[in-house]
Amino acid sequence: MLSQLPERADPIRLCESDRQFEGVVKLHDLQRLGAFLASTEGEMRYSLLFTRDVDRRRVIKGHVEGELQIICQRCLGAMPLPIDSDWQLAVVTGFQQAEQLPEEYDPLLVEEDTIVLRDLIEDELILAVPSAARHEPDQCAVQLTDYQEEVEEETEAPEASDNPFAVLAQMKSKGSDVN
Ligand SMILES: [Zn+2]
Repeated sequence: MLSQLPERADPIRLCESDRQFEGVVKLHDLQRLGAFLASTEGEMRYSLLFTRDVDRRRVIKGHVEGELQIICQRCLGAMPLPIDSDWQLAVVTGFQQAEQLPEEYDPLLVEEDTIVLRDLIEDELILAVPSAARHEPDQCAVQLTDYQEEVEEETEAPEASDNPFAVLAQMKSKGSDVN
């Protein structure tokens, strides 16, 4: 059954009844993620399937895709980060249960009756943002080569007076004074 994502729900009940949600989530509504973004314009497509696996575990299979505008740590400008991510959570009610999960699952520790379902998508997106993102050198506003050229120009400047053409120009102007 496919429907709009409710604000809050009991994940255990959703898994018991095989619920699937698909749609878009506006980046503007993901405030924790917003701290990592250069822009909160746009939206991400997602799907969330709450079900049971072959071992009768309650699991959530998520998918999210779209593009984030993250912040380059060199120039602090916007930098596109394409997202196409799949993940699997297993609903657990205690740490012991979490430790026994197979590798393919991350635990979703449920301590309250309901959770904010959008948090599942937001958490995955936050994990996808690299901690020290930087543009490729040729796409970054801070160009290391610009800096190097500036240094070269400065060191070249005092040499201008030794320019043989400049000396020639001075001689010529002196000559015209004589005439
Ligand atoms: Zn940059």
